[in-house]
Amino acid sequence: MEIIAKRPYGTQDVVPGSAYKWHTVERCAAETAECFGFKEIRFPTFENTALFKRSVGDTTDVVQKEMYSVTAKNPANGKDPDDLTLRPEGTAGAARAAIENGLLNEALPQKVYYIISCFRHEAKQANRFREFHQFGAEMYGSADASADAEVIALAKSLLDRLGLEDTELFINSIGCPQCRAEYQKALKNYFEDRKSELCPTCLERLERNPMRILDCKSPICQGIAKDAPVILDYLCEDCSSHFEKLKNYLTDMGIDFTINPKIVRGLDYYTKTVFEFTTDAIQNGTVCGGGRYDGLIEQLGGNPLPALGFAMGLERIIKFMEAAGSEFVPAKKCDLYIASMGEAAQKKAAVLANALRSEGYSAQFDTMNRGLKPQMKYANKIGATFTLVLGDNELETGAAKLKNMDSGEQTDISLGDKFIDEFSGSIVAEMFSGEMFE
Ligand code: ATP
Ligand code: MG
Repeated sequence: MEIIAKRPYGTQDVVPGSAYKWHTVERCAAETAECFGFKEIRFPTFENTALFKRSVGDTTDVVQKEMYSVTAKNPANGKDPDDLTLRPEGTAGAARAAIENGLLNEALPQKVYYIISCFRHEAKQANRFREFHQFGAEMYGSADASADAEVIALAKSLLDRLGLEDTELFINSIGCPQCRAEYQKALKNYFEDRKSELCPTCLERLERNPMRILDCKSPICQGIAKDAPVILDYLCEDCSSHFEKLKNYLTDMGIDFTINPKIVRGLDYYTKTVFEFTTDAIQNGTVCGGGRYDGLIEQLGGNPLPALGFAMGLERIIKFMEAAGSEFVPAKKCDLYIASMGEAAQKKAAVLANALRSEGYSAQFDTMNRGLKPQMKYANKIGATFTLVLGDNELETGAAKLKNMDSGEQTDISLGDKFIDEFSGSIVAEMFSGEMFE
């Protein structure tokens, strides 16, 4: 196929036949977030590159290797170039928008969620895309471990509602800048001794940010990291009691978890709590990642404010739901297809269909000027619940036969003032016959 008719590598189309799966997840995510008091926030697909460098972190894979950046003329002054980057994640943009719009001066905690596309240059791997989608939630203002539990509970609640109870929750604490400094020293000493075995990227990490080595995907580096010092042994009293409190909250809320001191997460802004939900049901099965980032708001120029959040990869969630046999909410069916013969009937069909739509029904009629047979075939194909045939005879008598496509049963329906009422009656009867709930 010619290149212009091919989508770029690492992107996906959602065709009308599978959009209902996305709608199921997106609506469920929004509803669950709103149950927890989170409100939607929207922000640009691209931001100034500096925002991501500052927040995600210069030493992370995301900033070093995965961002799509461009330099573009700034129309505001027509000369200074803008360094812009397609968002690789949502936390930075949401935080920037929260600061810029004064949301953090309003009643706290401020709780926002978003459903967005993200862009990363990635290696070719299963369930890893160059454009992917995230559902994210962020909470600003609370330093208390109950907030960490609340954010984890939101992610868990959504997974459960989507039929994905079979996930494992891993938690860890990566401490605050104070206790982490001690840990980084110990970690550096440990890796210094085995320097010659590390991959070139980790050699660089050793100098700039040795904790990143724990996140390396190379099996050799992972092997070396196995016996490395563990952050939990270095936590200061504040970080340690925060972690204890979180564990108690999760236990009391009935949320199972496993402590995994190797989780450091791929973004630099985290402090204290970090967590991941994973599954073995799909490859690269980390479906959700998040944590606390108490320093980020100040780092971005806001007043110091503790914050935390998570993001879920929606392509992986849908794949996981398919593997788990979860139910998706089917797309709305066509309630009535009006077949017509002749121009006058077609016009009447358009008027009746529009009247039904203004009452919230889904109605369609023929716009292809086809014969009756292909029209009925089309009605069947789109799964219309009822059909109606309009011809000269029906126009003359002002009445027609309403056909139930499942049972084949036909009932009389008036085409005059009573049309909507009579159609509503038939739809309700159909619902109570139970067939629409199958
Ligand atoms: P990984 O270790 O798998 O690279 P990450 O730490 O880079 O994940 P985050 O930045 O925490 O991922 O993003 C949150 C979630 O977004 C991930 O848990 C995953 O479900 C999803 N995600 C991240 N990158 C991709 C991608 N390239 N394609 C599809 N989903 C992704
Ligand atoms: Mg990654």
